[in-house]
Amino acid sequence: MAVEGLKVDQLQNFINGEFVDVKESTAVINPATGETVVNVPLSSKDSVDAAVASAKTAQKEWALVPAPQRAEVLYEVGRLMKEKKEEISRLLTMENGKVLEEARGEVQEGIDMAFYMAGEGRRLFGHTTPAELQNKFAMSQRAPVGVVGIITPWNFPIAIATWKSFPAIVAGNTVVWKPATETPIMAQKMVEIFEEAGLPKGVINVVYGSGSQVGDAMVHHPDIQVISFTGSNDVGRSIASDCGKQLKKVSLEMGGKNAVIVMDDADIELAVEGILWSAFGTSGQRCTACSRVIVHEDVKEELEKRLVEQMKHLTIGNGLEDSVKVGPIINDAGMEKIEKYVQIGKDEGATLLAGGSPMNEGEYAEGKYFEPTLFTDATADMRISQEEIFGPVVSLISVGSFEEAIEVNNSVTFGLSSSIFTKDVNQVFAAQRDLDTGIVYVNAGTTGAEIHLPFGGTKGTGNGHRDSGVQALDVFTEWKAVYVDYSGKLQRAQIDVD
Ligand code: NAP
Ligand code: MG
Repeated sequence: MAVEGLKVDQLQNFINGEFVDVKESTAVINPATGETVVNVPLSSKDSVDAAVASAKTAQKEWALVPAPQRAEVLYEVGRLMKEKKEEISRLLTMENGKVLEEARGEVQEGIDMAFYMAGEGRRLFGHTTPAELQNKFAMSQRAPVGVVGIITPWNFPIAIATWKSFPAIVAGNTVVWKPATETPIMAQKMVEIFEEAGLPKGVINVVYGSGSQVGDAMVHHPDIQVISFTGSNDVGRSIASDCGKQLKKVSLEMGGKNAVIVMDDADIELAVEGILWSAFGTSGQRCTACSRVIVHEDVKEELEKRLVEQMKHLTIGNGLEDSVKVGPIINDAGMEKIEKYVQIGKDEGATLLAGGSPMNEGEYAEGKYFEPTLFTDATADMRISQEEIFGPVVSLISVGSFEEAIEVNNSVTFGLSSSIFTKDVNQVFAAQRDLDTGIVYVNAGTTGAEIHLPFGGTKGTGNGHRDSGVQALDVFTEWKAVYVDYSGKLQRAQIDVD
C-alpha cells in the first residue's frame, strides 16, 4: 500500500517523459519508524545511456525555446509546489526524518528557487561593451552547456535538486538527475510536478540507483557536459578527478566543519538559541550544521551551563509529531559514524557534558536516534574539532581573544559556513572580512541560507563554484563572446587601431 501523497509503492525511472520499470529495487526506510515507505529502482548503466540519449535529443529543441517561455514552465512548477507543499513536506519527513517544520522550510526553498530562476528567463544578462574598432559591435552572452548531470544527497533531497535543476533548465540545458537512494520520493514528486507544469519530454530525466553504478556512469558519460554534485568529500574528490581527465565541467558542494563564535560581549541567550538550532536541527545532518562552538574564555562557563540546561528541552522523536524538535539519523552508517566520533572525542580527552549515546529503548527502538551531544574542553586540533561528523555532536573550544577565535575558525580544511555573536561593530566587520568561509552569519547560527545568494564554500568544501543565487548560472552556461563587424572591410583587432 502506497503511503499518503504517493500514488505508487514502487518507483520507476523517468526517461523521455515515460515511467520505466527496472528489474532490481531496494526499500526506502523511514528512519523514524523503521517502516518501508516505498521501493526504489537500482538501475544500471543502460538506464543512464537511455536517459542521456533522451536528454541529448530534447536539448536541441529546448535550447531554441525563448528563455522567457522556458521560464513559464518554472513559474508553473513553483505554483504547483506551493499548492502541494504540505503533501510534499510530509513525504520528505517520512523519507528523510527531518521534523515537519524543517521539511516545510526545505520545500519553501524549492518554491522560492522556482520563482527566482523563472525570473532569470527575462534576465540571463550578458554584457554589451564598446569594441575597440570603428563600426564594430561586441557583446557576451550565456549559452547552454548541453546535458547536465546532477547528483544529490539525502539530507536536502528537494532543495538541492531545485538549486541545480532550475537554473540548468531555464538556461536551456536538459537534465539527468540521480537522487540519493535513501530519498527518492522528492524526485518522484518533482517529476510529477514537471509533467503537470508542461515541461517537454526529455528535458528532465530521473535515474535511480547507487552512486557507484548510476552516478559513476553519469560521470563517465561522454554526452554529459557538466556534473553538479553535492555530497561527501571523498566522493566529490573522486568525481572531480574523473571529470578532470575528461575535461568535463564539474561543480562540487561538499562538507563543512562550521563554527559559531561567541564573544565576551555577546547576547548569550541569543547565542544559545542560535547554537541549538544550527547544531541540532536536522539532527546535525546539514552541511552547514554548527559542529564547533568557539567561545571566549570569560563566558565559557555561562554558555556551557545554559546550553546543557536548554538541551534538556529538545524533544527527540518522529518528526511528524508537532512537539518533536530533533528527528532521527538517516541510517545505520550514520549512527555508526556518530558513535565512532563520540568515542574518539572521549579518547582525545574532551569532556562530555551532555548526551553521547544512541537511543534504542521504548519508543526509540524501531527508529535510529542519537542524543544531542556536547563536548567541552576540546582543542582546535582534535579530530572531533576537525572532521565532519554529520550528527548532533558539538565541540566547545575556548579562546582568549577575537584573533584567536578567527584563527581557530579558519584552522579546518573545510570552508562552508561560520557565525559570530558579538555586539562590537568593529569585530562584526573584521569578522566578515577574516572568516574564510563561503557563508558568514552575524548574530545568527551557521544555517539559514536564502536562495538568491550564492551558496557554497571555500577550501575543501568545494571547487570554486556556487549553487543558488545568480552565480549558479555560471555552472550551467558557457560564456560566448560575439563580435559583429559592420565596417564592410577586414578590421584587425589590436593591429588596425589607429
Ligand atoms: P555521498 O555518499 O557522497 O552521496 C551523495 C550522492 O552521491 C548520492 O546521490 C550518492 O548516491 C552519490 N554517489 C555516491 N558514490 C558515488 C560515486 N562513486 N559516483 C557518483 N555518485 C556517487 O554523501 P551523502 O552521505 O549522501 O551526503 C552527506 C554529505 O553531503 C555530507 O558530507 C555533507 O556535508 C554533504 N553535503 C554538502 C552540502 C553542500 O552544499 N555543501 C549539502 C548537503 C550535503 P547513493 O548514496 O545513492 O549511493
Ligand atoms: Mg550515500
